[in-house]
Amino acid sequence: LEEQVQKNECLITVGQMAAGVAHEIRNPLQSVKGFAQLLQEKNRDNDEICTYTGIVISEIERVNTIIREFLQLARPAGIKFEKKDLNSLVRDVVLLVNSEAILRNVAIEEEYGMKMPLITLDASQIKQVLINLFSNALAAIPREGMIKVKTCYDFHFNEARIVISDTGVGMDRDTLEQIGQPFFTTKEEGTGLGLSVSFRIIRDHGGRIEVESTVGKGTTFTIILPGLAGMGPCLGKETCN
Ligand code: ADP
Repeated sequence: LEEQVQKNECLITVGQMAAGVAHEIRNPLQSVKGFAQLLQEKNRDNDEICTYTGIVISEIERVNTIIREFLQLARPAGIKFEKKDLNSLVRDVVLLVNSEAILRNVAIEEEYGMKMPLITLDASQIKQVLINLFSNALAAIPREGMIKVKTCYDFHFNEARIVISDTGVGMDRDTLEQIGQPFFTTKEEGTGLGLSVSFRIIRDHGGRIEVESTVGKGTTFTIILPGLAGMGPCLGKETCN
């Protein structure tokens, strides 16, 4: 584990240098995209040119995605902590991903913990993590299936949990060991950055992410976030079961 941590730290330092380069690539790329769009506009009636410029534009979009996710990893935005209601945050994200889920024949089941104390978090960063986990869950479900999202508060350990389970393809041990390493992906169009960004964000919150997965059955990601000081066992007795 120690070795892995060191390896990741090293990758992150190299990443910071590369981030400078990645950032600089954005502007010229933007102008290439602009001209490709212009070409497309001016050749609306030419199917061949439209096809080619369409490919140019969507490939540039792809490079943009890689750069955006890479920069999130290498140059994290400063954290802005606020006291927030976790349930409403999760609800917002479910609304956001729901249309994509419907398109993919995936039902999202929600179960919200009662009496959830506020949590100190950076809402936009936690939303980013949830979006990453939901997108991965959606991508793991081949034809149809279900994603269950559950929140609860464990007063015993004074921590909040967000559990996201899917009925997707699952991961074998080899994959499980590698997820979260920058650029590790099994997807043809993947960046392999979503989980390393997510792990980093949760680590920055003093929390952790646990993963359980069975090939052919599905995967469960559990985000665990520390509760506010003093919100422990005196406030309630429930645990997350
Ligand atoms: P990307 O989605 O671009 O591949 P991630 O870091 O988000 O990058 O994920 C890395 C890999 O972890 C994925 O390519 C996939 O193999 C695996 N993975 C992540 N979430 C799931 C899931 N819910 N079910 C199955 N495999 C998953």
